[in-house]
Amino acid sequence: VENISEKLEASAIGTESTNPQNTQDKEAEESASADASLLKKLLRSRLEEDNSAIEVERQNPDSPLYSCKRFEDLNLKQELLQGLYAMGFTKPSKIQETALPNLLSNPPQNLIAQSQSGTGKTAAFSLAMLSRIDTNLLYPQALCLAPTMELAAQITDVVRQMGQYMKNLKIASAIRGNMVPRNVELKEQVIIGTPGTVFDWSSPRINAFSLKKLRVFVLDEADVMIDQQGHQDICIRIVRGLPKDCQIMLFSATYKNPVIEFAKKIVGNPIIIRLKRSQESLSYIKQFYVRCESFETKYRALTNIFGLLTVGQSIIFCQTRKTARDVVVRLTEDGVPCELLSGELDVMQRAAVIKRFREGKCKMLITTNVTARGIDVDDVNLVINFDLPIGQDGHPEFETYLHRIGRTGRFGKFGVAINFVDTNTMGALDQILKHFGRPIDKLDASDPEQIE
Ligand code: ADP
Repeated sequence: VENISEKLEASAIGTESTNPQNTQDKEAEESASADASLLKKLLRSRLEEDNSAIEVERQNPDSPLYSCKRFEDLNLKQELLQGLYAMGFTKPSKIQETALPNLLSNPPQNLIAQSQSGTGKTAAFSLAMLSRIDTNLLYPQALCLAPTMELAAQITDVVRQMGQYMKNLKIASAIRGNMVPRNVELKEQVIIGTPGTVFDWSSPRINAFSLKKLRVFVLDEADVMIDQQGHQDICIRIVRGLPKDCQIMLFSATYKNPVIEFAKKIVGNPIIIRLKRSQESLSYIKQFYVRCESFETKYRALTNIFGLLTVGQSIIFCQTRKTARDVVVRLTEDGVPCELLSGELDVMQRAAVIKRFREGKCKMLITTNVTARGIDVDDVNLVINFDLPIGQDGHPEFETYLHRIGRTGRFGKFGVAINFVDTNTMGALDQILKHFGRPIDKLDASDPEQIE
């Protein structure tokens, strides 16, 4: 943040790190959901829209509900329209069609919006924030909270691009490591950051901006936010400091009970917009199982399958990082090209692996549960569960199973899933079979032609 460093230089004494140790540690905590979310953002190049249906809930059914198919009808400032065009946006995404006119209407309307990642939420609230600020006024008017500094940085990029034609627009990043002097009001109209640092900056100790002067407050990735230790409480404290007429919006990719409860604590009297994702299903998947009692027999079954089948792209799921690594080591020794995608890699490395896989430069991916969340399997024609997804409680994780092998959309491509099971996991396979009500046939791994 150029402005802040200038100020820092200008004020020789009296500057300090704004983060007490405890909030710093909390923010440093990595979470799998934050990683998965960042991965998706790093890998994304376009809108992810299918035929999902919009669902709207309002406390006051008499209040008008707007929808808009054109950016040009939103009464946007000219320089914002220009920003949108420069980003290559020609018309609102599905969620934006409903969210934008409601967000931009007067008096300002509070909003809770849920839709899967990639559907245009960030672009929607960035536009709303930029529409509500007055760049002639040099103090923070819009605040956006994200669960991690990397996610905050992604949002900052979007806001900066969208606002590239707005004169005097300044954005501050309230993230760990960025320092501001005490008792000097920030000149940036927009603050984007993580809860701990934002809270510090607004506290009497630092006093770099006043929550009371904010006109827009955005909480992004509410579902990831509640996974991060301590974030929930700080968010609620920040919201308590907002003026009554501040517009509040909250976004989330998922909408499970804890998220709903959190959302309702943050956002008073909201319009709730949800984009129902078309269900993943197993209809296009042929499922098999192979009995293997040890790592060795599993590994042999694996090489048999690949030796006898013409496989396009495949993903092999293992329960632990160690198993995944062992499989990769063996395959590499046997001269089979493959790549490991595991929690040992940092997010950038994972993004690079997934990118190579998507581009077809790598055909076989060995991975564990958590790390595979950023991958879209629609182009993968073979999934092998080297280990079945089984939870801590010993029961199969149906959702994970579906997510590993299921397909979305009406034109799901045909695929094959093969489960390796032993005496201990046969029962779990049986539960999976009953749960989904779809056949899982026994496969003789020495004769994979059965599959074709
Ligand atoms: P989300 O916040 O829901 O994950 P984003 O706002 O990041 O979604 O949008 C996903 C991708 O789609 C981004 O690459 C973004 O630039 C692009 N995008 C967003 N809105 C539009 C639009 N109206 N037209 C074209 N592309 C869009």
